[in-house]
Amino acid sequence: MFIAIQGDNFDGHDFCSQAIKNGAVALIVKQKLDLNIPQIVVDSTSHALSAIGAYIKSLSNAKTIALTGSCGKTTVKEMIASVLSSLGSINMTMGNLNNHYGVPLTLLNTNIENKYQVIELGANHQGEIKDNIKLVQPDIALVNNLTAAHLQGFGSMEGVAKAKGEIFSGLKSKIGTCIINLDSFSEKWIEDNSDKKIVFFSLNKKKKSNFFAKNIKQSSESSSFVCQTSYGDEFEVVLNIPGIHNIQNALAAISCCYQLGVNTKMISEGLAKISSVDKRLEVLKKSDMITVINDSYNASYGSVISAIDVLNGFSGRKVFVFADMAELGKYSEEFHNKIAINKSMKNFEVFTLGKYSKQISDTNNGKHFFDKKLLENELLSTIKDKTEPLTILIKGSRGFTMETITKTLMES
Ligand code: ATP
Ligand code: MG
Repeated sequence: MFIAIQGDNFDGHDFCSQAIKNGAVALIVKQKLDLNIPQIVVDSTSHALSAIGAYIKSLSNAKTIALTGSCGKTTVKEMIASVLSSLGSINMTMGNLNNHYGVPLTLLNTNIENKYQVIELGANHQGEIKDNIKLVQPDIALVNNLTAAHLQGFGSMEGVAKAKGEIFSGLKSKIGTCIINLDSFSEKWIEDNSDKKIVFFSLNKKKKSNFFAKNIKQSSESSSFVCQTSYGDEFEVVLNIPGIHNIQNALAAISCCYQLGVNTKMISEGLAKISSVDKRLEVLKKSDMITVINDSYNASYGSVISAIDVLNGFSGRKVFVFADMAELGKYSEEFHNKIAINKSMKNFEVFTLGKYSKQISDTNNGKHFFDKKLLENELLSTIKDKTEPLTILIKGSRGFTMETITKTLMES
């Protein structure tokens, strides 16, 4: 069956004939078309997609984890899946299909054999998660963290907290479990969900932590820690990816898996198998002397701070190549300024691109460009000097497709 979705750029109704040629035997449409094939006419084809996704999901008994947060959703999803995949079949969000099309499409992939479902929910406006979580019907809901992302759509940090907290409304009273990051949360979530089980994790031990890290060891490309639980367990976790933020992501994944009854050995084994998710702080070796960190997937304030932290962990020359963070609206200058005055920036050679990042170069003796090709050429000549180890981190919001710079560097 072909569902004719109407989007901003395309109208699925224009593709129905092609869909029939490709094998569709029925259509869901908003207006009946002059085509000789069964058609179901509905008010909203995207609502129909959601309803079908929710129905298919409701046929499954799979234990379901829903997760959101400002950063790290896909990484945590991959971590959870890495643990659960050795215990039974999983249906999970593919790539980043986390919006009002992606969530129902993911649910449509439900297989009756699935033991688990792991569903990522993104949002750039209020109410988006509230609608989607109704389809998901989770047993466990996680908000990974709360940082300045999509402020344009949410208006303020309170707005972000409200939007992310909507995920808990999908849990059943008394049965559902909320998982909350004690280092980055809203008190309101706790007030609003007193009828549910609440589990907390944090990087360091806090009074309420159910899961926290100790003996943290970090190198430029990996990290390890001992996870301690309030239930009396202690176990070592080794991650083959860098950054304190990934320890936070691992604690989130551990909290979810533990609630499902997975034993700590299986959790450690699953996490040890994790490698970088595509374009998220991927550490690439260009040569003995040159390392390129490809973080070109996107840039929100929280993820830039993590990137700065990871780059700082390398020795030798450090080059920070950065294009604007998008969707910050009236907060754009303020958050680019926070990066400009970040103390670690003084350790970097800075190359920036776009409108708002100029202040980051200006404050740190860097070089600013409005043209990506010019930046690329200048970068290539700057890194010719190979007398000491060199690490280049490349980051920017999606619209800048900074991965093309990674490609040029790797092929140069
Ligand atoms: P999106 O909103 O685009 O779906 P996401 O929440 O799924 O993003 P990831 O794709 O896992 O997040 O990572 C996006 C960026 O955030 C990457 O640059 C990654 O390095 C960084 N990141 C991942 N986890 C965290 C975290 N816990 N805190 C801060 N930054 C993080
Ligand atoms: Mg994602």
